Amino acid sequence: MFRDLFDTYNWDEARESIYAKKAADVETALHKAKRSIEDFKALISPAALAYLEPMCRLSRRLTQQRFGKTMQLYIPLYLSNECQNICTYCGFSYDNKIKRKTLTAIELLQEAQYLQAQGFQHVLLVTGEANMTVGVDYLQNAIRLLRPHFAQLSMEVQPLEQEEYATLVGEGLHTVLVYQETYHREEYKKHHPKGKKSNFYYRLDTPDRLGRAGIHKIGLGVLIGLEDWRTDSFFTALHIGYLEKKYWQSRYSISFPRLRPAAGIPDPKVMMSDRELVQLICAWRIFNEEIELSVSTRENAGFRDHIISLGATSISAGSRTNPGGYVTDVESLEQFAIDDHRSPQEIAAMIERSGYKAVWKDWEAFK
Ligand code: SF4
Repeated sequence: MFRDLFDTYNWDEARESIYAKKAADVETALHKAKRSIEDFKALISPAALAYLEPMCRLSRRLTQQRFGKTMQLYIPLYLSNECQNICTYCGFSYDNKIKRKTLTAIELLQEAQYLQAQGFQHVLLVTGEANMTVGVDYLQNAIRLLRPHFAQLSMEVQPLEQEEYATLVGEGLHTVLVYQETYHREEYKKHHPKGKKSNFYYRLDTPDRLGRAGIHKIGLGVLIGLEDWRTDSFFTALHIGYLEKKYWQSRYSISFPRLRPAAGIPDPKVMMSDRELVQLICAWRIFNEEIELSVSTRENAGFRDHIISLGATSISAGSRTNPGGYVTDVESLEQFAIDDHRSPQEIAAMIERSGYKAVWKDWEAFK
């Protein structure tokens, strides 16, 4: 399990070694053919900010070499805002007195029809953690209902057991995203004081359970703003490196969610500038040429227009972060505010104008 490796590391030592990297370390990392985790530390260090232009050039070249000039499009579909966890940064938190809603089968199909009409073939199903209402049976039924209508179904929901994942993979689930939020144990505890999510190690073990269940793709990431993003990114890289070796049949993706405003949510502890986010995305690409890098509508339009040619491989478009947000209950409370409000068609046109191909359907399993 990754936890065995994780427990041999110390947060403060990892942080210090990243911040101690010098210009010479960055130059070495940029000029190597194959890069180590020490090189990744150099690329995410403050010293590397002075090398942003060569990093962008290299990241663009490596991305085009591996993925061509393509950009995959996906859209989240919120199934429910019920949640029994308290997460200090989330609008769906149990202690947030909002109207709760879970889509019925009919509402789910109405939302799906709308997404299909927009052209989407890749849908990300999202819920809070409410096992009584949105447990495995609900998710299994949702996948059964949606599978005939879409080429690819992904899921960002509560962590499940290995057998439960295996059941959903059998139904046609393609990808699971599970973000550790932060690898800093004490900070994690502060932000997750109640509910199943307060168990740091159960969450940390989740990608292992996914790998054993034979999932096609696993997405990792941290919530940027909770803790030092450089140290959290180092631990994410350590995690991915471990998973790639152990569960080599699965593919991997990384997302970069920056904490966004939501009802009753305090400001981020740590701010990350746009330049730093570009640095992080380029560092990932230079370190790992195979990994998929995803940028959501949390980011503003100007940022997203630039990032598509610098290393990202998939972006969401036209997202709503509330259950029923597309058709059936457009006024329900959103999980967080999005920043890019353009329609899917406007995003696709922007991608094409940039000389890239907007990919709505990348892959389809035999149904
Ligand atoms: S982040 Fe997820 S688990 Fe936490 S309160 Fe929000 S929906 Fe629930």
